[in-house]
Amino acid sequence: MSTEHGRKALVTGGAAGIGGAISRRLAADGMHVTFCDIDRECGEALARDIRAVFMPLDVTDGGAVAEFFAAHHGFDILVNNVGVDQHAFFTDTSPQDWRALLAINLETVFAFTHAVLPGMQAKRYGRIVSIASEAGRLGSRGGAVYAAAKAAVVGFTRSIARENARYKITANAVLPGPVRTPLVERGAAVYGEKKIRDLEQLTLLRRLGEPHEIASAVAFLASDSASFITGEALGVSGGMGCGAG
Ligand code: NAD
Repeated sequence: MSTEHGRKALVTGGAAGIGGAISRRLAADGMHVTFCDIDRECGEALARDIRAVFMPLDVTDGGAVAEFFAAHHGFDILVNNVGVDQHAFFTDTSPQDWRALLAINLETVFAFTHAVLPGMQAKRYGRIVSIASEAGRLGSRGGAVYAAAKAAVVGFTRSIARENARYKITANAVLPGPVRTPLVERGAAVYGEKKIRDLEQLTLLRRLGEPHEIASAVAFLASDSASFITGEALGVSGGMGCGAG
């Protein structure tokens, strides 16, 4: 049995898409998985299926997040997965839009990391994996604020890695390319099916990724096997990160 068996993992936005695949994979690896999500129906169904704990929660609601952490602690692994895409040119956005995008894509990463770190520091063990995006290093037409938030997640991750190495806590970011999830399907609904073909052409492998392919990378970084990897930003994007296209 691997040493990560029985470790306590928390996944944000863990009911569907990439987060759903991560919850499923970590549970299959023998971890005690808790995931939170705003989608109660999806969350309850997945929790039954993989025998995980589901907490219906809007992760941008500071009061609800504080209540959650008052009742749940001792996490060994945090996966900051939740995120929402943007589909508008920057000139068509308002400060209100920026704040909403930063709240979900960046501030939740701060809030959840801030809540789990003291417990990890006390036990001198922790794995923090945050889902950023290739958009954070390449930019995104129609997603400037999203891309800025994801780039910030990488800077934050590296800082947390620096501050917490002495506690044997690692912090890494995973940068997906286009992955077949409800998020991408919503983009196709806005821009049409051609959007999917265009996304495929951005990768060397000329296809969308599948959520389980992101979950594999996360499971590795969350495992004891990744003990000498910290402060990294790993593209899981079919080669998009080397400028395919
Ligand atoms: P998704 O929209 O398919 O799923 C997101 C999950 O988060 C859903 O279960 C949703 O209910 C939940 N959620 C949304 N708002 C919430 C809130 N306020 N509180 C709690 N839960 C909430 O997204 P996805 O494609 O699985 O993306 C997951 C992560 O991967 C995000 O950080 C995203 O930015 C990143 N990412 C995705 C892609 C892609 O192509 N799909 C590419 C790069 C990065």
